[in-house]
Amino acid sequence: MKLKQLQLKTDYLNFDEEFFHKVAPTPLKKPFLISANEALAECLHISKEELQSEEFIDLINGTLKLEGSEPFAMCYAGHQFGYYVPRLGDGRAINLGELDGWHLQLKGSGLTRYSRQGDGRAVLRSSIREYLMSEAMHALGVPTSRALGLIGSDENVARERWEKGAIVLRASKSWVRFGSFEYFYYKKKYDKLQLLADYVLKQSYSEFVGRENCYLLMFEEIVKRTAELMAHWQSVGFSHGVMNTDNMSIAGLTIDYGPYSFLDDYDFDFICNHTDAEGRYSFGNQPNIGYWNLMMLLTALSPLINSDKGKEILETYSTFFVQKYHALMCAKLGLDSSKEYSKLIQWLLNIMQNDAVDYTLFYRTLGEYETRDEITQLFISRTRINEWLDVYEKELPSKETMQKANPRYVLKNYMLQEAIEKAQDGDFSLVNELLHVAQNPFDEHPELTRYTKATPHQFKALKLSCSS
Ligand code: AMP
Ligand code: MG
Repeated sequence: MKLKQLQLKTDYLNFDEEFFHKVAPTPLKKPFLISANEALAECLHISKEELQSEEFIDLINGTLKLEGSEPFAMCYAGHQFGYYVPRLGDGRAINLGELDGWHLQLKGSGLTRYSRQGDGRAVLRSSIREYLMSEAMHALGVPTSRALGLIGSDENVARERWEKGAIVLRASKSWVRFGSFEYFYYKKKYDKLQLLADYVLKQSYSEFVGRENCYLLMFEEIVKRTAELMAHWQSVGFSHGVMNTDNMSIAGLTIDYGPYSFLDDYDFDFICNHTDAEGRYSFGNQPNIGYWNLMMLLTALSPLINSDKGKEILETYSTFFVQKYHALMCAKLGLDSSKEYSKLIQWLLNIMQNDAVDYTLFYRTLGEYETRDEITQLFISRTRINEWLDVYEKELPSKETMQKANPRYVLKNYMLQEAIEKAQDGDFSLVNELLHVAQNPFDEHPELTRYTKATPHQFKALKLSCSS
């Protein structure tokens, strides 16, 4: 289909004006296309040719208004690093409307009522990171928002230094956050809280519509999806970096990619966010924070849910997490997840932590090795890993399962950094190559085999600032 034939819906605007701010995007100067995502365009029935058209740039820059589209920013609150902030909202994101269940949103498209001290903009660096990473996570089977296109511009944006502004056209099955509920709860606007719950029920949990205790059933499913999302992150080695409740999706998706990082070497205590000195959002603490965030959500839903029952449901979180994590880790190791392998998994992680082994390279090698030396050379102490392998090999792991579960490529920070530096010089080829790699992480990409190796020493465990 052509862009001009698309028809968008904006159900969110049926609420009253406290839920949103109707605001037009502010276009960037001299916009140009950096990348378009053909895979997502196909899901949305947008033809390939349209992605190369001027209209596509205009759509992302906010100067082409599609049929039915009425741009708006959403209001929400949230707990940031444990402290409640009564109003946040889309300070630099503007929703365009819904297409086939995908809610299209521009990020970096100018000021809204919720911009606070910010400028409503996003820089090229962070936009490339969000664009590529959401697609990488999708290809790894991790629930996530996605991205349809990315434009750059000639507009200067002030951060630690001057940078160029960019806009990502993001798409998600939902943009509602835990913090969306917190906003109405702390304002004691329980009627509006319920309207929001009904909206989410219909949009993301329609199987419970009309059921007795529908809000409780929905909460149970949110607990399950959040626990499973955490299991996905832990198994692929993804660190989100800013798990504030305003960055937690009510639909259990990964959203708001900021100073995130994939693990280089396995490190349970890894902190990717430069401003997170105490490690609240360290890699290993993510499942605990998922639970804490759900506790905050339960408080926000308390006018709609019996609190004892809610607490009982919350306590199922760890079971859901452990089950999913066990299943995902067994797949990575080629083991039958109906058997109990927790101790074997933990033993391995302890060795990897001790020997600082590249998390992704290890599993991929384990799924392909012919001689043990290929594995043991990744470790400092060959004795420890040999002892583990003696036990592991007796379980007759399936290499076929492992090859499907273990990517050859993940987008490590140093790879993104290379693409960003080239893009800042006007060369977008690596952004587009990495998009291809991100979308096909299990395949071989002969021209980029250097990215399958362990992260070069000088680029390991980079910390990123929140500034974006
Ligand atoms: P984040 O943790 O990046 O998801 O952002 C937290 C809050 O700050 C959200 O309400 C954002 O909309 C807002 N925000 C972040 N950067 C900017 C910016 N440059 N201009 C306006 N609002 C921003
Ligand atoms: Mg956010």
